[in-house]
Amino acid sequence: MIKNNKVRVRIAPSPTGYLHVGTARTALFNYLFARSNNGAFLLRIEDTDLERSRDEMAESIIEGLQWMNLEWDEDILYQSDYFDEYQEKAIELVKRKLAYWCYCTDEEIKERKNKAMSSKKGWIYDRRCYHLSGEERERFEKEDRPKAIRFLVPSGISSYEDLIHGVIKKENSEIEDFVILKSDGTPSYNLAVVVDDHRMGITHVIRGDDHISNTPKQILLYKALGWELPEFGHVPLILGKDRSKLSKRHGAVSLSYYKDEGIIPEAFVNYLAFLGWSPKTEEEIFSIPELIKRFSLDGIQIKPAIFDIERLEWLNGAWMAKLGREEVASRLSEYLYRKGISIDDKDYLVKVIEALGKRIKKFKDFLVRGYYFFYDDFSYDEEGVKKHFRKGLEEKMKELIKQLKELANFDENGLENVIRNLAEELNCKASELIHPIRLGISGMTVGPGLFVLMEILGKKRVIKRLESLVRYLEGADFDK
Ligand code: GLU
Repeated sequence: MIKNNKVRVRIAPSPTGYLHVGTARTALFNYLFARSNNGAFLLRIEDTDLERSRDEMAESIIEGLQWMNLEWDEDILYQSDYFDEYQEKAIELVKRKLAYWCYCTDEEIKERKNKAMSSKKGWIYDRRCYHLSGEERERFEKEDRPKAIRFLVPSGISSYEDLIHGVIKKENSEIEDFVILKSDGTPSYNLAVVVDDHRMGITHVIRGDDHISNTPKQILLYKALGWELPEFGHVPLILGKDRSKLSKRHGAVSLSYYKDEGIIPEAFVNYLAFLGWSPKTEEEIFSIPELIKRFSLDGIQIKPAIFDIERLEWLNGAWMAKLGREEVASRLSEYLYRKGISIDDKDYLVKVIEALGKRIKKFKDFLVRGYYFFYDDFSYDEEGVKKHFRKGLEEKMKELIKQLKELANFDENGLENVIRNLAEELNCKASELIHPIRLGISGMTVGPGLFVLMEILGKKRVIKRLESLVRYLEGADFDK
């Protein structure tokens, strides 16, 4: 338990892209940390980059967090509402001589940097504008040169105890006088984050390892502004299977993709929790309330986590089994509705789920492997056509249709009897009927047992599909 019992954490995504798996995982860790300490979990949208930020991205991030069921407390904070405050703080630091105006253009900096690099000296900003004479400054002002504000990094060592990595030290001499206010008046990430985390009363900053290098800068800003420091913890990055940072190359990295694939949120959250955290037991299936009970920062590993889609899909299957057919059917119905398929008959969906069973890892598989359960407009598998459709088959199918029309109990047993008896009557093997019927009513050569499949599809639909098969066969040219 945290000492003062007033944990306040946040997730602070930038709406320059969709909700990234890494951000979703960091959000989850913050959420679990807050809930397991009776604290508050807050959401801040870091939209100070006016050119790259998009409202629709912010919306999709918000939807993604809602989909994961990570409810935040208090109103969402948008950084773009606070431009005045960031400017004020930056100018205050200039007035207190803890920061200074910088008139250097990108080109000038690049030139000096290249020079330094070519003489094998490392480069950090050379404080040129800190040392400007009064005249130079006046000239630049007259020229109306764009100007930014740089923080004057003091000498010494910045050190803090990271909640996950332990003590981290950085020589201040290695930190350049970083920009806190850009020449367009917008704040740099480091300034905005400190001003907001302070205003929001954030007690623990838990974020990805990619921000470790920013933390000493932020600590310097806290100190310059005279504010109490929060605690910092950096969680391991998520890597792809080839151990490079998880990116589009490894497949989809945005949460909306997984939602679209029909991964269920409980499974997704369960999976994310294990990316860098472990309950230190063998258990694998955890709901959010169970995670809250078990979560602690001690369980977070330092080594990077590897994203493994197969494991996610395995967990999704395990979650589907845990939720049960009825619940999966309701969720499948919602999923299909989003895809433009409206099926109110829950029993039908339960039967489809039972029939496709273990072949299904995510909802999209229902469409891939069971398209014919939802649509009539499928085409016949080409290999299957070559293998199973023969001259004269239409006569057999016509007879089958006749007998099916008369069949009172259109169920598994009744159907099996009809088809096996018909095979005998026609003096052929049952498989010579079974394969073409399957192809005719589903377009596929594999799937659930044929008689169950026919029962689920129902008399009307099966007959309609067999009739269109007959039309197809009548028009087909088998001599080619
Ligand atoms: N907007 C930053 C990001 O998306 C937030 C980093 C932080 O949590 O301080 O990486």
